[in-house]
Amino acid sequence: MRTPLIAGNWKMYKTRKEAFAFVDALKDLLATFDPKRVEGWICAPYLALVGLPEALAGTSVRVGAQNVHQDKEGAHTGEVSLAMLSEVGVEAVILGHSERRADCGETDRAVAEKTEAVLLAGLTPIVCVGETLEQREGGQTAALIAAQVSAVVEHLTRADAPEELASKLARLVFAYEPIWAIGTGKTASVADASTVITGIRATLTRGLGSRAEAVRILYGGSVKPDNLGAFLAERDIDGALVGGASLAPDSFAALLTVA
Ligand code: PGA
Repeated sequence: MRTPLIAGNWKMYKTRKEAFAFVDALKDLLATFDPKRVEGWICAPYLALVGLPEALAGTSVRVGAQNVHQDKEGAHTGEVSLAMLSEVGVEAVILGHSERRADCGETDRAVAEKTEAVLLAGLTPIVCVGETLEQREGGQTAALIAAQVSAVVEHLTRADAPEELASKLARLVFAYEPIWAIGTGKTASVADASTVITGIRATLTRGLGSRAEAVRILYGGSVKPDNLGAFLAERDIDGALVGGASLAPDSFAALLTVA
């Protein structure tokens, strides 16, 4: 009942010219099969977002951003608001990616506030959580991931949360990305990813009750067309957040085919 979701995270790759060349090539590839059973997203750098949804018209692939500011507008130099993203047809936002947590000091609290803002604006948040290798080896994975997920859920369900938020929670997407598996060619084992993701659903169920069943949880970290199928075969893994393998049109199309 949860539609599989493959989200490409382009990070700081692709000029506008490169982005639109990708779309031309992707459209040729998608003309030969129908990826309707799966949702495909491309989360592009800000400048490439303008015109991207129009360029993808006629395909089922939709467009996401990689960050947003939680305020409606204001004196926040260098930031971009949800109204600005919505205006150009962006429908999803990656939040709390480990690279932003590390590079920009993004905290659980900020990620929670951004998640609320994205939901209220009617977009889909893809909330990233994950542990470092040191934390994994120290046996801290389960507790750390539960804390990262709980910070978001507790914020969304706090007593004075806006009432309309409750009806939007089914749109939540989480992505479990072990930091040591990102861009390294080393994936988590399917069993380990599945254990953590089942734990995330348990944390969600504690906070959201039966509404947690609708929340999609992705695996991310060195996903490629040839290893995606094994992750998707797991009951609780609903898709993938993909960096490197989303950058070439043929491998992104192949990911949609596998799903
Ligand atoms: P990767 O990146 O697929 O290149 O490992 C995943 C991510 O950082 O979202």
